Amino acid sequence: MQSLSNKSKVVSDKPMTFMERLYLPAVFGGMWITFKHLFKKHNTIKFPEKQRIFAPVYRGQHVLKRDEKGRENCTACGLCAVACPAEAITMTSAERKKGEEHLYREEKYASMYEINMLRCIFCGLCEEACPKEAIFLTDRLVPTEFERKDFIYGKDKLVESKENPIDISLRQHTGKRTEK
Ligand code: SF4
Ligand code: SF4
Repeated sequence: MQSLSNKSKVVSDKPMTFMERLYLPAVFGGMWITFKHLFKKHNTIKFPEKQRIFAPVYRGQHVLKRDEKGRENCTACGLCAVACPAEAITMTSAERKKGEEHLYREEKYASMYEINMLRCIFCGLCEEACPKEAIFLTDRLVPTEFERKDFIYGKDKLVESKENPIDISLRQHTGKRTEK
């Protein structure tokens, strides 16, 4: 048969020599390689005790922001879900009732908002598409879980708390939105 490349290798099935049948040279050769690595510079770090410094433009776990009065910015317009290439976002909209003006900034809000973190590729297109400055990606890591269902993040995990708002200013100023 004509060879298409010069990468083919003829396999030999000749009987093993006495030294090969001992296996010891091969075992010691492997141990020597392992031993040499003890003195080389390590590329790994001891996470989570040590953590690498993230680039300011790093895109991690999302946050749904509130306005300066603590009201949810999201109006459930759905543009983030349409823009999402991974189809990771789902939501249900609801109409703001009388007396809820302190909870939601506009007449319509997301009564349910979910992001499937197993689908998300952290591209940031949801952030780009949002006309209300409601959704942003942050420098936080999505923690590991054992169950798939725990990667479905609802409003309980996405909406920032009033007491501890998430600071997104560093990424916004050093990242793509440098004009702000
Ligand atoms: S970061 Fe990208 S993939 Fe993830 S939810 Fe937003 S648009 Fe979808
Ligand atoms: S996060 Fe923004 S784009 Fe997505 S539904 Fe809410 S307001 Fe619309």
